[in-house]
This record gives sequence, C-alpha cells and structure tokens, in this order.
Amino acid sequence: MKIINYPNKILRQPCTRYSGDFDDSLKKISDQMFKVMKKNDGLGLSANQVGLDFCISVIDLSPMEKEKNSRPIVLINPQITKSSQKIVKLEEGCLSLPNLFGEVERPEKIKIEYQNLFGKKITLKAEGLLARVLQHELDHLSGKLFIDKVLPGTLREITPEQVCQDLNIVFIGTSGFGLPALELLMKNKIIPKLIITEPDKPAGRGKNLTSSPVKEYAKKFHLPAIQPIKISSAYKKIKDVKPDLLVVASYGQMIPEKIIKTATLGAINLHPSLLPKYRGPTPIQTALLNREKDSGISIFLLDEKMDHGPIIVQKKMAIDENDTAASLESKLAKLAGNQLVRIIVKFALGKIKPKNQNEKSATYTNKIKKEDGKIDFSKKPAEINAQIKAYKIWPRSFVILNGKRVIIDETHLDDDELVIDKVQPEGKKIMNFSDFLRGNPKALDFFKKINYIKIT
Ligand code: ZN
Repeated sequence: MKIINYPNKILRQPCTRYSGDFDDSLKKISDQMFKVMKKNDGLGLSANQVGLDFCISVIDLSPMEKEKNSRPIVLINPQITKSSQKIVKLEEGCLSLPNLFGEVERPEKIKIEYQNLFGKKITLKAEGLLARVLQHELDHLSGKLFIDKVLPGTLREITPEQVCQDLNIVFIGTSGFGLPALELLMKNKIIPKLIITEPDKPAGRGKNLTSSPVKEYAKKFHLPAIQPIKISSAYKKIKDVKPDLLVVASYGQMIPEKIIKTATLGAINLHPSLLPKYRGPTPIQTALLNREKDSGISIFLLDEKMDHGPIIVQKKMAIDENDTAASLESKLAKLAGNQLVRIIVKFALGKIKPKNQNEKSATYTNKIKKEDGKIDFSKKPAEINAQIKAYKIWPRSFVILNGKRVIIDETHLDDDELVIDKVQPEGKKIMNFSDFLRGNPKALDFFKKINYIKIT
C-alpha cells in the first residue's frame, strides 16, 4: 500500500458505498491504512489516497499533544448529517499533497454517521481537530481536495530542504562521537550558527595543547566556534543566535536549564546507549565491560536530570565480538548522526511526540579512573579481554612489570584461554607480544604463571 500523490486522477474519483461483508478483510485493510498513515506522520487517510475504491477512512489523532487520549477510528460509509453555522479557519495539509499547506474554512462542529468494522451504525458528534480531520477525509471520499477550498493567498510550500535551511542550530560537542552528526547536518545544509566545544587540553607526552575533533572540524569549515570553560558563561552568545534547537553530543558538561531555554525547541542529546539503560558518562565502555550482545543510540530531549528526558528516537545495533571502545564509538556515532538527520525536520515540524523513559529500568554508568586500567589477573579471561576492549581509548589496560607500565593493547579469546596479541611497554611503540617476550625473560616468567594466558 502506497500513498497516491496529486495530481493523480484517482484522487478525483468519488469512492463507492461499501456493500461487502464486514469480516476480517476489512480489518486487514484498515490496519494497513493505519500503518501507511503513521509512517507518513498523517492524522487521517482515505480510500482513494491508497487506490481503494470504496468508502473507508482511518483517523488517529493520538500523535497530537492535545489529543493524546483519543482512539483511532475506522469509518466505513461515513456521511455528514449536521454542520454548525459557525465557520472556523485553520491551516491544513494532506499526505497526497506533501509539503503544501493552506488555510481552509469549515464548520466548527459536525455530526456524522458511519459504520464501524463490524457494520454497526455509529453517530458521532465532533468539534475541534476531529471535526476538521473528519471533513477533510470525507472530502477525499467524494473526490475533493483541500486545495479546492483553500483561502486565496494562503497556500504555501514548505519543503524539508527549506526547513533545514531555516533551522537555527547551535551544535554543542567535543569528542569524536559527535563528529558524524555534525558532518551529516552540514551535508543536509543544516549549518550550525554556532559551535560550542570544550577548551583545548594538554595531551600526549609533550603535553601540547590539543583541540577537540569538533573544534578541528569547525576550523576547517570556518564555522563560528567558542570554547568556554563553563558553558553557562556562553549564555549571551547562544541567546544572540536565537536558536531553534541545540544539538548536544558528548560535550563533557551538563547543560544548564537556562541554556536549554534559549532554544525554542529545546535541546536534543545524542547518547550511545538504549536509554534508560546506561545513563551517565561511560555507556560504551560499560556495555563492553558487561559483555553485552548489543548496544544502540538514543536521541532524547534534554531536561535538568542526567540522560533523563523523553526519547525522540532509538536504534539498536549488535556489538561485534572484536569491537573495542574505539570501533564501537565510531559505529554508534554514525548511527546517531544518521538518525539525527532522519528525525530533525520531523521534530522541528512538531511531528514527533517524544516518549518518557521508564524510570524503573534506568541503570547508570560511572566515570572511569586511570587506576581502573590496572589488570586484575584474578578475574576470568573473558572479563580481562572485555576490559582491554572497553578501555582501549582511555585509560588503557596495563600491568606493572619491574616497576614499569606495560599496556596490553590487543587480546582475543581462544576457548578459555586469553591470547595477548599486542602490548606497548612504557615509552615504546605498540609491538607483538611474542617480540616483547623474546627480549624480556622476567616478563615471560610473569605471564607463564597465569595459567589461562596462552603463550605460543
Ligand atoms: Zn488529505
């Protein structure tokens, strides 16, 4: 089932009265219609819009904030029996005329008769949005479209491209996790008006000041970027941009409510876990440490509590057994970026209703400390293997041999044995474990004593 677009003539053909059986086939058809309608974010859909020739319409207003508790309705052979004198004006759109909107005058209240899925006659009084959608759908069934009634001069086209270009965004991010999102926004012509990223930090042995990946990207494309020590001090600069939306991806600081409120649509956050599982600073590492089979991303509306706000979209992804924090972060970052550009226009147009998280199933992750990297060989080989993958970027996993730190960089499991593939002795480059052992009899002794480490 697919939606037929204007100017296809089918939309102009009045539908015939349904005289068939009220059996399961009708239910199947209406289910399909609901599915197509929801996929396209519609509130109503009628027979000829999907190539059916008998009088059936479906309506579901529950995605609208004010109509939360309304139920989906299937209307067979509907007819208006009464209309109010009072006329009201409202902007309408239609799934068969995507991107077109215009004001239409219609009676404020109506009374209709229709048959439900069991053939039972129903009388329904409607006002407000329901009356509006009912009249729009009944018009469809008689081959009429809202553009036939649109008030002169009110018809306008709003394309997704235009919404993108008009969207005023402030991008707030630091680490590589946010980079694909930023790149994909730019590709979709959503150019952030301002970028906020953490200050340059000393890194590496030389302790040279190093810019964040987001800062580097901003520099490359000449995007305005600021690096406040505390984001609250950037309040005025953010407010001056008059943002519609703040997009936050692993920035490194909590975003105060005052900042969130600078944007008319609030702030959305990209988080690398399926919330409410793994809230907090280290979801990727914790998922790997816990040897999870899958992970995912959540995009949610920021509120004052950490990773707590309602979910806009979530996407699950399998964790590969070879995944490290680095590879998993990069996969999840791409996934999050793709989902962001997929939902951002819909979200900006108010077509997505975020869903509250289930507080009862919330779990939390902790900050990782440098000492956490020290390997405890009393643990099981699978746990150590998981730790090495989880701490791959930072803090790394290490043992102290002869007073010197040796980083275990890469391992894998061979049945119940741990195979060390690569190590990095203090002050040296990453090397094969076998090469390292060759010139180091004390290390060989050390590892030989651990019965589950395979030495070849
Ligand atoms: Zn329509």
